[in-house]
Amino acid sequence: MNDFVKNRARSAIFNLKPYFPGKPIEEVKRELGLDNVIKLASNENPLGPSPLAQKAVASAVNQLHFYPDSNCYELKRKLSQKYDQPVDTVLVGNGSDEILKLIAETFLNPGDEVILPQPTFSEYQFSATVMDGVCLSVPLRDFTLDLPAMLEAITQRTKILFICNPNNPTGTIVTQEQLDRFMEEIPDHVLVVFDEAYSEYADSNDFISGLKYLQQGKNVVVCHTFSKIYGLAALRIGYAFTTVEIADAVKRVTEPFNVNLLAQKAAFAALDDSEHLQASRELNWQGKEYLYQQFDAMGLKYVPTQANFIFLDTGKDCRQVFQRLLQLGVIVRTGDIFGYPTYLRVTVGTAEENTRFIHSLQSVLESLS
Ligand SMILES: *Cc1c(COP(=O)(O)O)cnc(C)c1O
Repeated sequence: MNDFVKNRARSAIFNLKPYFPGKPIEEVKRELGLDNVIKLASNENPLGPSPLAQKAVASAVNQLHFYPDSNCYELKRKLSQKYDQPVDTVLVGNGSDEILKLIAETFLNPGDEVILPQPTFSEYQFSATVMDGVCLSVPLRDFTLDLPAMLEAITQRTKILFICNPNNPTGTIVTQEQLDRFMEEIPDHVLVVFDEAYSEYADSNDFISGLKYLQQGKNVVVCHTFSKIYGLAALRIGYAFTTVEIADAVKRVTEPFNVNLLAQKAAFAALDDSEHLQASRELNWQGKEYLYQQFDAMGLKYVPTQANFIFLDTGKDCRQVFQRLLQLGVIVRTGDIFGYPTYLRVTVGTAEENTRFIHSLQSVLESLS
C-alpha cells in the first residue's frame, strides 16, 4: 500500500466531508435512460439567465484571449453605486463559495473557533475545516437560527460566526429585531459573516440585510451571489461588502484573475435587468403559493419560506422518495444530509415544473403507503 498521501497530506483534509451537489440533469438522463428530466435541487432560477446577461456574454467571447480585469473595476463600481457602499469595500469572487473560503483563509489559525447554525449551507464548515478551524454547530430552533444560543457559544477563541439569512435549507429568516439585539451583544473580537444568497426573494418586512450593521461600523461581511435569482450559477460569481480593512486583508489571499471575463460581463449586465429580477420574484411567489396549497391538501408539513425553495416533510424515508422521484425525472434534494431523514428540499420551479413535481410526489407517496 502506498501511504504517501496519508503520511504527507495535512491532517485537516481527512476531516472534510464530501460535498453532494444536486444531481445534474444530464447525469440522470444518462443513468436512468430518461429524456425529460427537471431539476429542482439547487435553487437555480427556473427562468434561466437574464437576457441582458446572455447578450453580454455573447459579445465578450472574442476577448477570451485576454486575462480578465483582476480588480473587476466596472462591476465593483456598479455594485458600489447600487448598494451605496464605498468601492474599496466590495469583494468579488469565483462564486460566493470562494469569498467564504477566502474569509476563512484570511482569519483562521489552527484551533480557532467558528460558530455556525445546524443545519445550514455546508460551505461554512468546509472552509473552516480546511483551515484546521474548530466548528461549533448550534441547532436551529423551530427551523430558525437560534441567535441567543449562538451568542452563548462564543468564547475567546471564536473568530467567525456565520448567519445564513434566509437560511438554507429551511428558508427561514431571523428578524430585524432579533438581529438588532444580537448585534448589540456581539463581542468585538468576532467577525460576523452574513450570507444573503437568497435575500432578493425575501418579502417579509422583518427581513434586514447585514449591511445595516456594516454601516454602524461593525466587523461584518455581507455575501451575495449571482448564482440564484440572477441565474448565473454556471459562471461562478459572487460579491460581498465589508470594511476597507477586512477587504484589504481578504485581497491579500485572493488569486489574481479569480473572476473570469464572461462572469464579470454577465453580472454587470444582469444588475441592469430589473425586468428579469422582478419576473423571477413574481414567478417564485406564485410557485410558492401553489406548492403551499398542494402540500396543505396532501396533509404535508412544510416550513414557510423566504427563499426560492421549500423544506418539506414527506413523512417517509426521504432517500426512497428521492429515488422514486428521480425515476420519474424529478431531481430534488434529500433532507438526511441536513439531519432530517423524512424531509426534502425542493426548489420552486416554473408553474409547469411545480405541477409535475406535485403529481410525481403524489404518485410516489401513494406507492410508498
Ligand atoms: C447557493 C448558495 C450560495 C451560492 O454560492 P455560489 O458559490 O455563489 O454559487 C451561497 N450561500 C448559500 C446559502 C447558498 O445556498
